[in-house]
Amino acid sequence: MKYYAPKGLNDITPDDMPYWHAVESEVRATMPVYGYEEIRTPMMEKTEVFARGVGEETDVVEKEMYTFDDKGGRSMTLRPENTASVVRAYLEHKYYGKEELSKWYYLGPMFRYEAPQKGRSRQFHQYGAEAIGSNDPALDAEMINLATDILTSLGLNEVGLSLNSIGCPDDREEYIEELVEYLNPFKEELCEDCQARLETNPLRILDCKNQACSSIVEDGPEITDYLCSECRDHFKNVKKYLDQLNLSYTMDPNLVRGLDYYTKTVFEVFSSDLGAQDALVGGGRYDGLVELFGGDPTPAVGFAGGIERLVLLLEELEGVELKKRELDVYLATLDRETKRRGLKLVQRLRNSGFKTEIDYLEKSLQGQLGYADRYGADVTAILGPQELSEDEITLRDMETGEQTLVPLSDFTEKVKNLLESE
Ligand code: AMP
Repeated sequence: MKYYAPKGLNDITPDDMPYWHAVESEVRATMPVYGYEEIRTPMMEKTEVFARGVGEETDVVEKEMYTFDDKGGRSMTLRPENTASVVRAYLEHKYYGKEELSKWYYLGPMFRYEAPQKGRSRQFHQYGAEAIGSNDPALDAEMINLATDILTSLGLNEVGLSLNSIGCPDDREEYIEELVEYLNPFKEELCEDCQARLETNPLRILDCKNQACSSIVEDGPEITDYLCSECRDHFKNVKKYLDQLNLSYTMDPNLVRGLDYYTKTVFEVFSSDLGAQDALVGGGRYDGLVELFGGDPTPAVGFAGGIERLVLLLEELEGVELKKRELDVYLATLDRETKRRGLKLVQRLRNSGFKTEIDYLEKSLQGQLGYADRYGADVTAILGPQELSEDEITLRDMETGEQTLVPLSDFTEKVKNLLESE
């Protein structure tokens, strides 16, 4: 072995693929039901899109971005998340003038230079939704409903929802002042990162995983006590709508999310089965981002879910039905002449939409039947020199073992009948 994939960048092999397809199909089936259309943005952007959009002093921007100069000397960054790109695209294509409310979803790889561990990689995949153009708290509830719907439709039951509101920038300014005042006397006891955060981004101390930091934070001020009347009202309504939709949640006053653009509602959906990396989905409102990117003030809300973590869970879960490679028809041939004719028949079957395979390994008839069986073929067609000389072919029903000889001219029709009778 000479080459390995770079650390933290994983292959998704055909063995893994049924789980990926299950997730991707669920996302593609559910999003349109809620009125979301797909958008695809480039895998890299000019660095400032993320630096400004996500926030200069966030972990993502400070430590985790894959940033490089391209051959033209421009600083480019592989996208660490997709909201900033989606908002850039929304403005660039002037969607604000085309539709009152843009409801979009995406699926694709993201890149963050993090320490790889179970459920955390440097290239990972997210699906997500963004709704740009409304500040209705019912839309926050719809987002949460959509995020949990995808998970439960995939068969997860043990999902929990954490909820918080981090208010508007004014609320936050007032709260941060109080928080810093509360934390200052404990400065020496905070972890090294949080000592720095006290100067640069004190909110992030709230979700520090360090035991010492979290126990200090526990007795500190809570942001929901600092919400202005509009933000308080908004949050009250979000909770009301969630109740109405029977979506239960746990209030988490320390949930602030790692990215700067969030305002008001923030949420995470998690699974108790995942261990340390338990968040499957994270999201919230970001009412200031469109304006930050030069647009008119436009409220928005969204979420992103990680596919790797979801796949890990699905692999452990029993009863998730997945489709491996399964054949409709296997066509066994016995020599060069029958192979030549067989290829034509395979082409015809494939054109009719049947998953069909032929031998490429010079296997004996016995070997070919074994192969057909292994890949779950419902019908095996056998074309030997004898059959070919009579313009006939043998069809074998793999379930019953019953064989019939049919004229080649009726081949596709007979295969179809057999498959339909399965
Ligand atoms: P975030 O954009 O950080 O809010 O992340 C949203 C979701 O993406 C998380 O809940 C995870 O499921 C997933 N995620 C984030 N970072 C990673 C990573 N490095 N590896 C795998 N999944 C990730």
